[in-house]
Amino acid sequence: MTRILVVEDSLDIAEGLQRSLEYDGYQVSLATKAAHALAVATSDRPELIVLDLGLPDRDGYEVLRELRERGVQTPVLILSARREEADKLQGFRLGADDYVTKPFSILELMARIGALLRRAAPAAFPAPAASSAAASDAAPTSGPLSDAALRERYGLTARQTEVVRLLAEGCSNAEIATRLEMSYYTARNHTEQVLGKLGVSSRAAVGAMLYAQG
Ligand code: CA
Repeated sequence: MTRILVVEDSLDIAEGLQRSLEYDGYQVSLATKAAHALAVATSDRPELIVLDLGLPDRDGYEVLRELRERGVQTPVLILSARREEADKLQGFRLGADDYVTKPFSILELMARIGALLRRAAPAAFPAPAASSAAASDAAPTSGPLSDAALRERYGLTARQTEVVRLLAEGCSNAEIATRLEMSYYTARNHTEQVLGKLGVSSRAAVGAMLYAQG
């Protein structure tokens, strides 16, 4: 499961972000102070850090500088009310990967997080295992369930089988939306319907299920 560290001292924003990210399939830890953020970022090695600049103990820029000095290359998305060009440039100069200003659109933030993660770990998103033509030829004795088997056993549509493959790769709803060129809400609806049809309670169970019954 992809882990994201949210560094944010405003609890309203932090908890709202946590809910949205968890809903989208990420595992989230929160830090409200710079010292805590540095400790978690270096010990837990999250896949991405969302970093506020105005923190109670130290400036977010200092967190970023220290992370990079320690050799932590985790993608950092700065989320700040500071809208000046000089602030953004300072962030990028210190090694930030993206910069989003508050107030922010949660959908845009999700899309940017998905894009950063894809860029950071291209190997985590391999090409689909089999085309539907090849998959309908034979029932494999090992490997994932074929598209045909998914449609027959679970009553999935062709579109829903695509969603299943992406869920099994660990894609978030925002990533599914991007990959299948649909809206975030459509992707989320597909995910909910697919989980219901497969009879699993979490998106993390999809990949295991595909292989266990293949
Ligand atoms: Ca703040």
